[in-house]
Amino acid sequence: MSNAIATDPGVENSSSGLIPVFNPSTEEQIAEVPDADQAAVDAAVARARETFESGVWRKLPAARRAEVLFRAAEIVKQRTDELAGLESKDNGMNAVAAQQIIKVANEMLLYYAGWVGKIHGESSNVVSDGLLGHYESFHNFTQLEPVGVAGLIIPWNGPFFVAMLKAAPALAAGCSCVLKPAEETPLTALKLEEIFREAGLPDGVFNVITGYGETAGAALAAHPDVDKIAFTGSTEVGRLIVKAAAGNLKRLTLELGGKSPLIMFDDANLDKAIMNASLGLLAGSGQNCSCTSRIYVQRGIYDQVVEGIAAFAKMLPMGGSEDPDSVLGPLISEKQRQRVEGIVAEGVSRGAEIITGGQRMDRRGFFYEATIITNTQPDMRLIREEIFGPVGCIIPFDDEDEVLAAANDTEYGLAGAIWTENVGRAHRVANELRAGQVWVNCALGADPSMPICGHKQSGWGGERGKKGIEAYFNTKAVYVSL
Ligand code: ADP
Repeated sequence: MSNAIATDPGVENSSSGLIPVFNPSTEEQIAEVPDADQAAVDAAVARARETFESGVWRKLPAARRAEVLFRAAEIVKQRTDELAGLESKDNGMNAVAAQQIIKVANEMLLYYAGWVGKIHGESSNVVSDGLLGHYESFHNFTQLEPVGVAGLIIPWNGPFFVAMLKAAPALAAGCSCVLKPAEETPLTALKLEEIFREAGLPDGVFNVITGYGETAGAALAAHPDVDKIAFTGSTEVGRLIVKAAAGNLKRLTLELGGKSPLIMFDDANLDKAIMNASLGLLAGSGQNCSCTSRIYVQRGIYDQVVEGIAAFAKMLPMGGSEDPDSVLGPLISEKQRQRVEGIVAEGVSRGAEIITGGQRMDRRGFFYEATIITNTQPDMRLIREEIFGPVGCIIPFDDEDEVLAAANDTEYGLAGAIWTENVGRAHRVANELRAGQVWVNCALGADPSMPICGHKQSGWGGERGKKGIEAYFNTKAVYVSL
């Protein structure tokens, strides 16, 4: 193992085996982390449970809890370069993207630190003279109570950000947590545990276990002493988590796959639209659940847009953690690259046309060319499946009704984008898109204050915004007869 990165496995990670961690840009092994077995999962959950029951965190005065989270944000800020370097090696993304990931993760932490002490129940006036009528008067109110031990299961794209997307609201609500990062990208999650500890979070409140999905992830999802699972990942694994969680009817937040449409009308500002459509597709090499990989273009501008997006795709510099100027990074693994190749091959065998790309790169690392495809059919895997690679299809359309029907013809409903200068049309189409977030004349926007709630098979519940923290509370109604 060259350039090995030292990892602090933490007590909760005691387990028999080890998982090798590779840099997808170089295919080099850079670290190894514990392969948590059932006993390691049990131990982490027990520690989280003990802290939850003792109240060492949830019962702290809100001002003290906020202080710890704000202090953690300060530490993240100070350690940005170190964290970004690690994220870049672990995930393969370039250094600029990694810096951005750490920054937005920190903004998420600041946002939720600001909620501590400001989210609470309501008092309520009695409405009924039925069941309650025989008492004189009431003081009725609701209160929000942290849901308990939260299991946080996250994927390999943007690992530090997704960890924070869950950890920040969970801790702000007063929960104790067990986080399981993806087996491919565990390194910054381990740092997050260290950072919370340094910020003064009591030991055992935030625990990280590293392990495989089918073992450690499944054990956490099924664990009878875990009250909630917040999961980001594939729809397929989302279904397994629903089944595993049924045993003790855990609360679930699921942020699952997407196959998001971008709709470009002929009155769009084409320079901006082409650039943003390209970035909305290719950022993170398409390994983004909200990437807009079905690009519907009105017929009058179709040829021009195909040419423009293909030119943009060819021009984007490709490179990994070692190339600071790159935009397109590698795919996470050889397995993922083979999956992308399979989906493209299926389309091509049925008449889809590759305008640019379509090949693996002849270099070290799991690189795949930015690929633009036309002449697809609605039932091809290219159009139906989340690819998680830099592969987009451009499809012509004539009118609004036709494009809405095509755009909504998917089992997913995570995101969508509209490009038009016509305000009425922008709102009409935004209303009709069956998706949890819609971008008008922009791409991939995400703000801590704005919820993302997948429609259809893209998820259950929401993250970010007020919804994101509400998901870590139970509501209790208290009736006091006066
Ligand atoms: P992706 O397609 O983004 O890799 P996955 O859904 O495969 O997403 O994985 C996301 C996370 O879910 C990872 O941390 C992985 O280890 C975990 N995971 C995979 N299988 C299971 C499972 N059966 N139960 C719980 N977690 C799982």
